[in-house]
Parts: sequence; C-alpha cells; structure tokens
Amino acid sequence: MALAVFKKLAQGLSRTRQSLASTFQAVVGSAEVDEDALDDLEASLLAADLGPELTGEVMDAVRERVRSGSTGNALNAAVREALRGSLPDAPEPASRPADGPWVTFVVGVNGGGKTTTVGKLAALEREARRKVMVVAADTFRAAAIEQLERWADRAGAELAKQKSGADPAAVVFDALRAARSRSIDSVFVDTAGRLHTKTNLMAELAKLARVAEREVPGAPHEVLLIVDATTGQNGLAQAEEFTRAAELTGVVLTKLDGTAKGGVALGIHRRLGVPIRYVGVGEAVDDLLPFDAEAFLDGLLGDTD
Ligand code: GDP
Repeated sequence: MALAVFKKLAQGLSRTRQSLASTFQAVVGSAEVDEDALDDLEASLLAADLGPELTGEVMDAVRERVRSGSTGNALNAAVREALRGSLPDAPEPASRPADGPWVTFVVGVNGGGKTTTVGKLAALEREARRKVMVVAADTFRAAAIEQLERWADRAGAELAKQKSGADPAAVVFDALRAARSRSIDSVFVDTAGRLHTKTNLMAELAKLARVAEREVPGAPHEVLLIVDATTGQNGLAQAEEFTRAAELTGVVLTKLDGTAKGGVALGIHRRLGVPIRYVGVGEAVDDLLPFDAEAFLDGLLGDTD
C-alpha cells in the first residue's frame, strides 16, 4: 500500500484509534495486567463499536494470554490476531467481461454516501484510463440526479439520466444499451435508498438487477452496499435488509473519518457475509481507499510508523 494512502487511512481512523489507545496501552504496556485494565479495554472495544460478540472473543483471547503470563508484544499480537480473524482479505474482483461494460450497483440507505461513492469510484476508473458512465437510477430525488451530475463532471464520466420520477428500471436499461454502443468500460449505478416501503425497495433492486442481466450478461458484476461508519452497530441492522434483496459482493464503509466507531468494520463480514471492499475517509474525490486488512489494523491499533 502506497505511503500516502496508508497515511490517509491512519488519519481517517484517528478518532477510533485515540479512543482505544489509552486502554490498549494500559494492557499491552504494563508488566502486570490487572482486572481493572482489562475491564477498561473491554469498555473501549465496545465504545469503538466492535459489537458484543467480537468484543467477547477478543477479551477471551486476551484473558487467556494474561493467565499464561503474556505481556507486552505477546498480548499485542493476541489482540491483533483475534481482530484479524474477523477481517477476511477481499477476494479479487471477478474478471472483466470480454464483451460489454463492467457494471456495479451501489446500494444502501439514503445519506450513507452512495452518490459520493459512485463519484469516487468513477474517478478511480478514470485514473485507470477507462471510459466510465454513471447512472442516476435514484429518480425519486431530483437533488440526487443533480448531485450525480456534478460528480460525473468532476470525475470526467458520462452521465445517464432521465427526468425526476422516471422508472429506474428504464433508466438502467437505456443506460446499459447506450454504454454498450459507446464502448463504455465501467458503469456505476446510483440507486435509490428509500421508496415508500422497505419491501418495495428490495423488490425494485432485484428488478434492476434482472434488467441489467438481460442487457449485459453477468451484470451486475458488483453490488456494493454502503455502510455509514458513524451509525455503528445500528447501521449494520439496517444493512442486513439489503443482503436479502441483492447478491451483495462487497461493502463500502463510508465516513470512517468522522467517527470513533471505526471498530464497526470488524463485525461486517460476520454480520453481512460480504467483505469490505473500500473505505471512505472524507468528502473529496480521492477519499476512497481500497480496503486492506493489515493496514486497517495498523491504523486502528496505532502501529502507524
Ligand atoms: P446518498 O444519499 O447515500 O447518496 O449519500 P451522499 O453521497 O449524498 O452522501 C451524504 C453525505 O455524506 C454527503 O454530505 C457526503 O459528502 C458525505 N460523505 C460521503 N462519504 C463520506 C466519507 O467517506 N467521509 C465523510 N466525512 N463524508 C462523507
């Protein structure tokens, strides 16, 4: 991982790291670990939003090592190992289709950062010199279409849109058709976060996927769920809804920079069954980083030299 990217991640995690640092140091830095220090560590893991289950597992591992006389580096390694087990490496994305564009759906509740992430992903693809189209399939909010338009300009991507209130399935269908005829390499679809009821939203997403499949075999190749880190464990409960609707391929954990609850990342795979693919660490176009488990733990536990 490039140093600049690593620094950004460490900076994005700074609030979470600060809230863990003192209790973590009290445990791994002392020659004899007492029960108070362990209780404090447990409280701060919960505050960092690791969730009760993972916190319990980490504390069991730490207590076992303490009982067998481990201190310092050995304890540090025990915590790290317990956390690492909950963060699988992201699998390689599926290979690009030989014919037709690579299609990514971005889904999640409103306000989580879907449109922003679509813009950032488009910019990443542009950097790789690919032809990119972004699709305004959230037709329920006029503001969302305008916002996506600004991101398309910024990223140098084409924009597929229809008027506010248009049928999202028709927007996706027309967009993919245009993308094929214009030899677009990558398409990012910004979907709605809310319709009238949750059931409708999930049915709508499934329908969009069927429409995409018909137009581009194998599409959507990626369905990325946006999880807003500031909502912590509560956000995960909402996110679970989406696992029923679409075949998610990964999570983008946004707003890590604005929260001390970055530990929520560690519970995502267990809870949602999909790996984290990217993390958002700010509002600027280059504030989206590919997820790297080791770098994430370095950023979380303070080993940032
Ligand atoms: P959507 O409703 O899901 O499309 O969410 P938006 O993309 O409109 O984002 C909602 C707000 O979150 C905007 O103000 C974004 O600038 C902000 N946002 C998105 N991602 C990040 C991030 O990684 N860090 C921070 N600090 N803000 C973010």
